[in-house]
Amino acid sequence: MDKADKKRLKTAFKAQEHAETLAHVGLTRPELEALLDHLDLALPDEGCDHTLRITVAWAREQGLDEDAVRSTVEHFGGYCDCEVVANVPEPAELFRDPYKLG
Ligand SMILES: [Zn+2]
Repeated sequence: MDKADKKRLKTAFKAQEHAETLAHVGLTRPELEALLDHLDLALPDEGCDHTLRITVAWAREQGLDEDAVRSTVEHFGGYCDCEVVANVPEPAELFRDPYKLG
């Protein structure tokens, strides 16, 4: 296997890994951005009560599937509102095209 083969394998692996990660994301990039923006504003005011209260309320307001939103953030270790902010990757990072990693 030469260098180009190795690179192709690596790219394919990253693409697959990326696809698997995205399979757990029940939100579009703009939706996820909106959620994180909302938490940035709401959390300092309302504080975290160790539940996904703000996240779930936001999902309802947006008319989104509450369970899809909940399972998305929990997949990344967001089990309460402050953990969503701390643990969910930046949407720009999460939705980045893996083929462009080089
Ligand atoms: Zn919390």
